[in-house]
Amino acid sequence: LGRLMRGCTTLVLAHRLSNIINCGRILVVESGRVIESGTHADLLARGGVYTRLMQLQIGQAAAQGATTCFGGFSSDSAEPVEDTPTNRTHPLDEDGEQIGWQKTIASLLRLVRPWQARLGLVAACGIARVYAFAGLSLLAALTVGAVKMGRPAILPLIALACAAPVAAVLHWLESWLAHDMAYALLAKMRIALFDKLDQLAPAYLLRRRSGDLMALATHDVETIEYFFAHTVAPAFVSILVPASVLALLAWTAWPLAAALTPFLAYAALMPFRDRRRVDGLGSKAREALGEMTAHFTETLQGLSDLIAFDAMPERKSGFSILARRSESARFALMADLAKQSAALDTATGLGALTVAVVGAELAARASLASTILPLLVVASTAAFVPIYEIAQIGRRLADTIASARRLQAIHDAVPSVSDGPAVPFVPLTGASLRFDNVSFTYPGRQIPALSNVSFDVPAGATVGVIGPSGAGKSSIANLLLRFWDPQRGRILLNTVDVRELSLDGLRRCIAVVAQETHLFNDTLAANLRLAKPDATDLELIQALENAALGDLISNLPHGLSTTLGERGAWLSGGQRQRVSIARAFLKNAPILILDEATSHLDSLNEHRVRSALEKLAKNRTTIVIAHRLSTVRYADIIIVLDAGRVVEEGCHNDLLARQGAYARLISYQGLAVARQGHD
Ligand code: ADP
Ligand code: MG
Repeated sequence: LGRLMRGCTTLVLAHRLSNIINCGRILVVESGRVIESGTHADLLARGGVYTRLMQLQIGQAAAQGATTCFGGFSSDSAEPVEDTPTNRTHPLDEDGEQIGWQKTIASLLRLVRPWQARLGLVAACGIARVYAFAGLSLLAALTVGAVKMGRPAILPLIALACAAPVAAVLHWLESWLAHDMAYALLAKMRIALFDKLDQLAPAYLLRRRSGDLMALATHDVETIEYFFAHTVAPAFVSILVPASVLALLAWTAWPLAAALTPFLAYAALMPFRDRRRVDGLGSKAREALGEMTAHFTETLQGLSDLIAFDAMPERKSGFSILARRSESARFALMADLAKQSAALDTATGLGALTVAVVGAELAARASLASTILPLLVVASTAAFVPIYEIAQIGRRLADTIASARRLQAIHDAVPSVSDGPAVPFVPLTGASLRFDNVSFTYPGRQIPALSNVSFDVPAGATVGVIGPSGAGKSSIANLLLRFWDPQRGRILLNTVDVRELSLDGLRRCIAVVAQETHLFNDTLAANLRLAKPDATDLELIQALENAALGDLISNLPHGLSTTLGERGAWLSGGQRQRVSIARAFLKNAPILILDEATSHLDSLNEHRVRSALEKLAKNRTTIVIAHRLSTVRYADIIIVLDAGRVVEEGCHNDLLARQGAYARLISYQGLAVARQGHD
């Protein structure tokens, strides 16, 4: 940072005073107001708030033989996942390009199987509707014929007046029954997707873009509506109606059936021809849409960084490219389908015409009664209606299959961890923990995050884990929570392998204060109740007090029921971290993991929170992960990690006496104290 600041006007926002000692001017802000201003020396001389904060930090440093600043280890708040290209989405694998359409359709059909009776009803309505429409045309023809010949047209008119509402009601009923079923199925699919994502989290989800997953749960599921509401039952109709028309023609005069068959066959096979090509076009269009959605979501998530770095123009041009790609993919699909639909119209027209011509010829030779010819022509046209409809759906079927395939790919993904049978029995006083020769490499990485890590924590003890950024500290927590399973070695909780425990049970007995806390755009109370759904307001307030957030409630406009904004944007980084600590207090679990739990706090609050955490950690098995030595100094066991290996282990005094890595770290941070004093 020193190098970065050279020659720049720099604003340093810090709660760690060591970072600002050398600044030309220091402003002390409290409750939104500048209360002191001047150089370090000025402010010290004044003996005000700044001096108090300073004394507190120096006091801590002196008392603990380590300072909170200029440490050799820096906070690793950067998400390690995001900067590793190997972990980026692999759209080809993930979108299930290799899942065949037969398998996809079969999986959809499996979903509708319980609805057989309903499907039969929909198909019956569909068939009746097509015939009712054909009947309408016929009645209309009869009416016109009667009027033309000067005969009373009252009877056909009455029939027409009765038949029209019947056709309408049948159409309405068919549509209503089909959609009622389709949306019930969509809801079921969305819930199944939710459950599956729960199983896959977080290992699989880190490899996917959240915008793309969102497109999956919204667009893609919605697309499948076409399949359920407009494809399954109409498919039956589109077979039964043409078949019955052909039978009628064959029964009256077989040459008519022979004349119509080629056209019907051409139309009926149309949706199946070029299936593979249209399918490919559909998949491409779907993927392009997913990518565009993902890009948009990520833009929204990173908006403040994008604006601060003036990177919106590039981001926008990236978006334009994706938008245009989506447009052209969809255009290619639609152009293809438009051609199909034109061909279909032609087939319908020519088919009816051929039947009329052949029929007229037959009538001329008196081998067909001329009065039923209009009926036969109308019936021939009606035969195309359901085929036409199914071909329309064919356009969307490409889309539907692409979407179903993307969903299927998620359902086929194997969770990285599987549930065990046993319910852990862990008394509130803590459990013994043991890492036994654990080695673990994140999927897609070559270098192991942990190699041959072994350590023992007796029930109720506190273990401190320290080491530089990227040493594998957080990975220990990830493995204990079974976000992943190690490739080698075992993790034992009260002598039981954690793989034998139920995931819910295991996670219920561990409270985590993680490096990064997610707060939902919900009330403060709801965000806290994540840890304990039935907590009373009093308990919430107590937890906030413990986390040194007691005064937050009075500062928020609606107290506990204040909404915290997107990802808790209404709170400062330090406040968010303390909400996470308050959650840990509420959860009151026998095992506690503190991952850099106080890294975002200023010295006053850190002091308060730390003593509260010490209270919480009492009689509990606790893992304290820290890069600052002062935090772990009083742990029963200290483990020094470097590049995934345990390089030292013991209590503070033992490790100091050993004169190894730990002692070197201490002296380095001690040096920092000296340097700070010098400044
Ligand atoms: P620490 O908490 O000590 O800073 P971590 O345990 O977070 O370190 O990370 C250890 C190593 O594992 C780092 O090299 C990091 O890049 C890598 N890593 C962490 N999380 C993931 C992940 N989800 N996928 C792939 N690699 C990861
Ligand atoms: Mg970490």
